[in-house]
Order: sequence, then C-alpha cells, then structure tokens
Amino acid sequence: MIQHAQEQPRYRAITRSNINQLPQWETMDSDLRRAVEVVSLVLPFRTNAYVAGELIDWSRVPEDPMFQLTFPQREMLTDEHYDEVARLVDRDAPKPEIDEAVNRIRLDLNPHPAGQMTHNVPTLAGDDLDGMQHKYRETVLFFPSHGQTCHAYCTFCFRWAQFVGMEGLKFASSEADTLVRYLRKHPEVSDVLITGGDPMIMKSKIMRQYIEPLLDVETITSIRIGSKAPAYWPQRFVTDKDAGDLLALIEQASERGKNVAIMGHYSHPVELSTDVARQAVLNLRSAGATVRMQSPVLRHINDNAKTWADLWRTGVGLGAVPYYMFVERDTGARRYFEMPLVRCWNIFRNAYQQVSGLARTVRGPSMSAFPGKCHVLGVTEIGGKQAFALEFLQAREPDLVRRPFFAKYDPKATWYDQLEPFSEADRPFFIKPSDAPTPTIDLTVDNRPAAARKSRESSWL
Ligand SMILES: *Cc1c(COP(=O)(O)O)cnc(C)c1O
Ligand code: SF4
Repeated sequence: MIQHAQEQPRYRAITRSNINQLPQWETMDSDLRRAVEVVSLVLPFRTNAYVAGELIDWSRVPEDPMFQLTFPQREMLTDEHYDEVARLVDRDAPKPEIDEAVNRIRLDLNPHPAGQMTHNVPTLAGDDLDGMQHKYRETVLFFPSHGQTCHAYCTFCFRWAQFVGMEGLKFASSEADTLVRYLRKHPEVSDVLITGGDPMIMKSKIMRQYIEPLLDVETITSIRIGSKAPAYWPQRFVTDKDAGDLLALIEQASERGKNVAIMGHYSHPVELSTDVARQAVLNLRSAGATVRMQSPVLRHINDNAKTWADLWRTGVGLGAVPYYMFVERDTGARRYFEMPLVRCWNIFRNAYQQVSGLARTVRGPSMSAFPGKCHVLGVTEIGGKQAFALEFLQAREPDLVRRPFFAKYDPKATWYDQLEPFSEADRPFFIKPSDAPTPTIDLTVDNRPAAARKSRESSWL
C-alpha cells in the first residue's frame, strides 16, 4: 500500500551559516566545532534536521558514520591547508582574501574526474550537449540543471565542485527536448540515467517535464534516477506535499512499459533504520519502481563487512536490489577516505559470504576508471607471483567487457591508474585518455581483445 502520512515534516537545511541552531551543536567538543567551521569553507557542508536528528548517533560522535558522512572533519585537509584557513578565520580576514585561499586549495584538491570533462560529452548537430554524458553504448547520463544540488552533501563527494559555483538554471522543457532529439538519433541507447547532484531535489512538477517526454521514446526501456533522497530525505516519497504526484508519475511511466529504477545511494544500514526510510522504499515499489542500492566503500563510513552485509540484508527485506559497491577516487578529501584495493576486496567478499543469493546481485568493488568500470575480482597467484584478477563490467570499448585480465599485485594500490599489467598480454586493458592505439593481439591464440581496431570512442563523444 502506498501510504501518505498526515503530518508533513518540513525539510530544513543545516549549513555553515545556521549550524549554531542545531540543538546538538553546543554538545560538540570545541575542537570538532572549530574543524567544521574551518573545513566547511573549503569543502561544501550541508546536512539537514532529519539526518542530524535521526541518523546521527551523537553519543558516538565523531566516529559515528553518518556524522563522518555529512560533517567536515579536521583531517580532510592537509595540516598546511587547514592551518592557512584557520589563521584567516582567526583574524577575521576579509572575504576576498579567504576566497583566494579557498579557491587555490580547491584547485589543489582537483576534483575533476579524469577524462569525464572532455571525453564523454555527446554532440548533436555539432553542438556539445553539456548536461549529458554518453560513455557506454546503452546508457546516457543526463544531468538536469534543476537537479544539481542535494538534500545533504556527502563529505567524500567528487561532485562538490559543481555545488560551489553553480550554473544558472535552464528551462527543463528545452533540456528534455534536446535529450529526446539525441535519443531519437541513438536508438542503441536503452537507458537514461538521470543524475545530479540529486534529481529528487526537484519538485514533482519539474521532474514530470523531464520524464514525460521520455515515455514516447520507444527505444528507451529504463529510466533510472540516481538519488540519495531515500537516505537523506525519504519524506520526499512519503510525506512531502508532492510525494503523491511523484509516485503517480512513476506509476504512469510503469504503465507505459518503462522500467523506472531508483538507483538509491545507500552507504550504511542506519539509513534504512527509520520508519519513513522504509516506507519510502515500499512506496516506490508500490508505484512500480524498482529500487537498487549502490555506494562507494569508504574509510570512516562503511569500511567493514558487517555494515555492508546488514545494509544488503535490510535492503533485500524491503525488496531493494543490491547493485554496486564502488571504489571512490575523485574525492576532494581522498586521503581521508581511500583504502587499498585489496582491503576493499576483502570487505566485499567477507560481506558477500554473509548474505543469501538474493543479495548477491551486488558487484564490486568496482572502479569507474577511464576505460570502464573495472571490477576487482580478487587477489590470486600466477606462476608463483601474486596478481590482481580484474574484469571490465562496462567499457567504452564493448569488446573489453568480461574478459579476465591481470595486474601486478600491489598491496598499496588504491586505484586503477596505479596498477600495472601483469604481463604484455594484459597491456590492452590499461588505457589512458592520452593513449595511442594499443598493439594487436591475435584472438585465435588469446582470448584478449583485438586492440588494434580504431577506437569507436569518437562516435560516442
Ligand atoms: C556506471 C555508469 C553507467 C551505468 O552502468 P551500468 O553498469 O549499466 O549500471 C553509465 N554511464 C556511466 C558514465 C557510468 O559510470
Ligand atoms: S548525495 Fe550524491 S551528489 Fe549529493 S553530495 Fe552525496 S554523493 Fe554527492
């Protein structure tokens, strides 16, 4: 049953400027408060009354995972950066001086994912389509300009650059029109993945302007919506004034034969611990949507197997489908969150062992690297030498998908670009944005890709 509760809790954002209104603020140690004040000048900070009041366990602060997920921490900046900003705060420096330092530090943190900006932007009649990315043949990513913020900001998020200097809003209808024209020219695309920020920040009326035109595109089978709202503001699907309208839109799409998949960003089981969070999943499912769960694996937040097993089990109980465990790379505070790949893999497999087959739909750990989504299958031994076994779950070059390949074992490696081919035969799988065409490998003697073919990439740019 879709349930609409009577009372309507209002969404209240908590940011740097009103943090002292949060009842728990005064209970925090003064050094924690200072860290929030300093670091939030550099990394965007926004949480809300629901996250602070119901998801954070204040008796466990600062270790509490939801606190770590939404509150900036001292160690997220280097000592040097932190001290510089702290000194400016202490002497009440003028705004231009603070801005100069903050912008310089942000550039240092370099949040732009490799290749994203230049390699995946599609074109239509010669024009770049800025709000879109088309990297994998079947799926177009679409960034509606109205969905480029979130109900709370994750401290690890690589999209933070876009929250601090947001572009002007465009007309939803004209963006949707461009998307539909692109899809009609690209019948190979079956999925539109609407992402952000968080598209669920949009009012249902605006969301409708994006979704309805897609219902007439016969080649589209799935409309995916990536969202953290089920965790940060589940009221969006239960008690918000236009929750019913959103659910009706999903029903309408389902009746038109489109699979609406809510790609729920869930990082921790506590995000499913409240009645409203559970009701959100049930409401979405009742409306005909499927709910999937994905998240990066992060130090301080979900770096143990039990957390993941609990998350997947709780999700499956509600009818959600575990989908991806990601390795996060392009985070401003990368050193704070990152872990060696071998540790991510151990967390994954230890969690996977604890759950039934219905939760084993999850894949990971997976790195969204330049050539594709690289799945760490595990550590193995070849001819007495340790190696990472890997595969691509998605690739720019479809022929690379699901061919096992190997990298030299490196216990410290945290990302694909630190890995080296185990042997010459593995070299074609290690592709950089700048790479020239890779050497030919005869498919009759090796199951590896014929890599000499001219990359088809140009047609997807
Ligand atoms: C992950 C991803 C997709 C979707 O991949 P699926 O495996 O189909 O979920 C599409 N585009 C980009 C750029 C991605 O990173
Ligand atoms: S909800 Fe998603 S886009 Fe928003 S801050 Fe978190 S990870 Fe980033």
